[in-house]
Amino acid sequence: MWQKDKDHFIHPFTDFSVFHEEGCELITDSDGIYVEDSRGNRFIDGIAGLWCVNVGHGRAEIGQAMADQATRMAYFSTFNNLSNAPAAELSAKLAELAPSHLNHVFYSCGGSTANDATIRLVHYYFNRLGKPNKKRIISRNNAYHGTTYLAATLTGIESNNWAFDTLDHLVTHLSEANCYRRPEGMSEAEYCDHLVEEFEDTVAEIGADNIAAFIAEPIMGAGGVLVAPTGYHKRMQAVCRANEILYIADEVVTGFGRLGHFFASEAVFETQPDIINCAKGLSSGYAPLGATLISDEIYEVLGTPQGKGGVLSTGFTYSGHPVSCAAALKSIEIIEREAICENVREVGPYLERQLKTLGHHATVGNVRGSHFMMCLENVADKDTKALLPVEARVGDRIAFEAQKRGLIIRPVGHLNVISPTLIWTRETVDTAVAILDEALSAAT
Ligand code: PLP
Repeated sequence: MWQKDKDHFIHPFTDFSVFHEEGCELITDSDGIYVEDSRGNRFIDGIAGLWCVNVGHGRAEIGQAMADQATRMAYFSTFNNLSNAPAAELSAKLAELAPSHLNHVFYSCGGSTANDATIRLVHYYFNRLGKPNKKRIISRNNAYHGTTYLAATLTGIESNNWAFDTLDHLVTHLSEANCYRRPEGMSEAEYCDHLVEEFEDTVAEIGADNIAAFIAEPIMGAGGVLVAPTGYHKRMQAVCRANEILYIADEVVTGFGRLGHFFASEAVFETQPDIINCAKGLSSGYAPLGATLISDEIYEVLGTPQGKGGVLSTGFTYSGHPVSCAAALKSIEIIEREAICENVREVGPYLERQLKTLGHHATVGNVRGSHFMMCLENVADKDTKALLPVEARVGDRIAFEAQKRGLIIRPVGHLNVISPTLIWTRETVDTAVAILDEALSAAT
């Protein structure tokens, strides 16, 4: 099996040289908070697959819902006036769960396609409003929005686009909100002012008439689990409102319980985005699915029976795929029935506190994040925040030592991300933090 994989499977985000030397790990089984490899080693999954298996692994009832749908009607088009029951039901459920003004859903296949489709819809929206110059999208350095051509351009992690091209005429990046590495001597409140001023200056420079939207993750995920200063998102939205710039919240990671609510934008950050994008936890990773949740106001312009009408000539073969929608409906039912958001609100602050106890290790410069979205930043010197040399592969070494002891965490350069399934209990937190404590001692 390893040989077949090595010879034929082009892995995403994988260093070919390392891969060809070391081969891959086959994950073969899973159950609840655990996954198992082909050698029978069992691990606590500390990354929920890839920030997505929110309800935990091996949920037979999700499998059953998918099988029932697949055997009854696995697929039919949703173009023109065709539809299917799971897509219709899921759309209504998402409208119920989302902030009250977001009542319309456009489906895609994952997070990248959700973001890509969203920008096309935003451009179409302004074209139909008679404002065809409003095209530029404002994103942020270190943002992660995916890897389709446009989503990769929205992404602001430089290394992700190394040796790739981007559609730079469409996107401008602002500074990320990184409280740990904010300019020396600046308070968090001053830092917030500084970031908002940068946005205002950028709008003045480019011209509001040329800007369509601002896109942001409520907490930046792959870019380093960066929590913005208090009030940042609200103030960025105010700048958007003042300049007729749409505010897009990329809740691909933060949605569906990771921060203790179905959506974090309104419940945690007090913003009312014009559009929320989601994927991952939407179906808890049991099937590929992405969704763009659109405000009533935008929907009116996109074309409704009462409004302007016209064919909305965009969409995917798999928009509203019945099996994926059935998986999402069952996953949402489980989140509600098992009070999983409540679990995150209860256990999340405990996870934060316990991870902070690891700050005594020589390399742990910063422990940050919120609820079930956490990160350790490893440094060479806590005072100067200087980084260890890349060759030290500190994040990899810590992750390796943790995995040896039964916990999978994610290395991202010098960072280690912890983004578990949302069913961890306080006992799971204690076990995971004890393993991390040992792993840090062994690796650093
Ligand atoms: N947006 C965010 C915030 C993400 O974290 C990701 C993936 O990690 C994406 C978009 C892209 O999603 P996908 O990999 O499903 O295309």
